[in-house]
Amino acid sequence: MLKKRTKIIATLGPSSDNPEMLDAMIREGLDLVRLNFSHGAFEEHQQRAERVRELARKNGRQVGVIVDLQGPKIRIGRFLAKKIMLNEGDPFTIDPKWPLKEGTQSCVGTTYTALPVDMKVGDTLLLDDGRIVVEVENIEDTQVHCKVIVGGELSDNKGINRQGGGLSADALTEKDKEDIISAAKLNADYLAVSFPRSPEDIHNARQLLYAAGGKGGIIAKIERAEAMDVLDGIIQASDAVMIARGDLGVEIGDEALPPAQKSIIKKARTLKRAVITATQMMESMIHNQIPTRAEVFDVANAVLDGTDAVMLSGETAVGRYPDKVVGAMSRICFGAEQQRIARTSGHRMNADFVHIDEAVAMATMYAANHLHVKAIASLTESGSTPLWMSRMSSGIPIYALSRNVETRRKVTLYRGVYPISFDVLAKDDSMTTNYRIIDELKRLGAVQDGDLIIITKGDIPGLGGGTNVMKIVQVGVKPVEEKRLEVPNTDEP
Ligand code: PGA
Ligand code: MN
Repeated sequence: MLKKRTKIIATLGPSSDNPEMLDAMIREGLDLVRLNFSHGAFEEHQQRAERVRELARKNGRQVGVIVDLQGPKIRIGRFLAKKIMLNEGDPFTIDPKWPLKEGTQSCVGTTYTALPVDMKVGDTLLLDDGRIVVEVENIEDTQVHCKVIVGGELSDNKGINRQGGGLSADALTEKDKEDIISAAKLNADYLAVSFPRSPEDIHNARQLLYAAGGKGGIIAKIERAEAMDVLDGIIQASDAVMIARGDLGVEIGDEALPPAQKSIIKKARTLKRAVITATQMMESMIHNQIPTRAEVFDVANAVLDGTDAVMLSGETAVGRYPDKVVGAMSRICFGAEQQRIARTSGHRMNADFVHIDEAVAMATMYAANHLHVKAIASLTESGSTPLWMSRMSSGIPIYALSRNVETRRKVTLYRGVYPISFDVLAKDDSMTTNYRIIDELKRLGAVQDGDLIIITKGDIPGLGGGTNVMKIVQVGVKPVEEKRLEVPNTDEP
């Protein structure tokens, strides 16, 4: 398997339920899976989570599990004929009072009862992620009468967005609240909150998750125009953010999407959070065995922007080639990471540090990047030190050694961070622990004799937030033979 740094998330679905297929996806470089709670029953998701963890174990890997809440996505109802064809200029009505399963060529229902109140004449509504565009011509009681501007095929339960945002349903629906309890039951490593409008939405989700006994991190999906106005607060309230390009693009306009992606990635990294780039990255591979050149560049550009992870949706949930798409994405990520600009960093160059462990993390990256060490080994309880390290661009692998399986799974999201199971033994002194770490890295083929590595750990093993030691060692050189390290001066002409 390629040692790529960027992580790959695959949405699971019927196409990836076959254990052999899922196994192949893991071998091709899958790091996390997304269970999309917009579809399917709890038992189905539970089976998928169990299957993925078992196959990960079999492969000697960790694969994180993300539960993605449906959120208040506003949708049309169903059609009697399952789908209709809309042409430019056609009249089309959306009416919350219309029977939900009995849509026709001219009218369809929706569960969003506030639609006629939220809409104004002249508003543009986007159906099915913007594939179909209609304009509101007049509102009569609960009937929102529209004219088709861009036509196409429209099928059951497609999403409705308003251009510019402003359809304002609460971020956590009753279904979401139940699904949060399910996420805790599944031991999900991350909970993704759909359509949050404010930091409070994230705090509420976290509170409900913790109350249900869950320990996962919270991912804020940035997919509303309103969220862009309170971006810093939402990022700070979360553990990670997702650039949910499907819904966000519909709301802010596709021309605003590339700059938004770049600024969200930059902000998330600066604020010490992880970031996921999502939706339609390899869309054509739902049907084809190879990606388009545009898709190759899209994935590579997200890597160069500094994303932690790239996400697959329909490609692996309902597509024909889930293993091939993960393999192709892995290769593109690896290729893009070889670019020098993916590795230079001015991260927190002028910032003050308040935590000792953060200071150690930053000093480590500075030393590692300038000394060109082979690897960084971070002994970690919560995963914070490797997270902070990985905010600084570098081509050097960061091994997160932890006895906590939750931590090992959480770090699967962080760019350039690789989990290793490692327990600090009470009887070991500091030097013995170093040797055990080095032996483990050697056993895994990560380092060999002569390599320089940096180890970070705390004086008191097992204490969260206790990292206060950074040690530079040469593999295979015992203290008795320890001599002054000669590092070639690369500054000289
Ligand atoms: P979804 O979120 O796939 O749950 O809609 C991602 C997006 O909107 O891009
Ligand atoms: Mn979405």
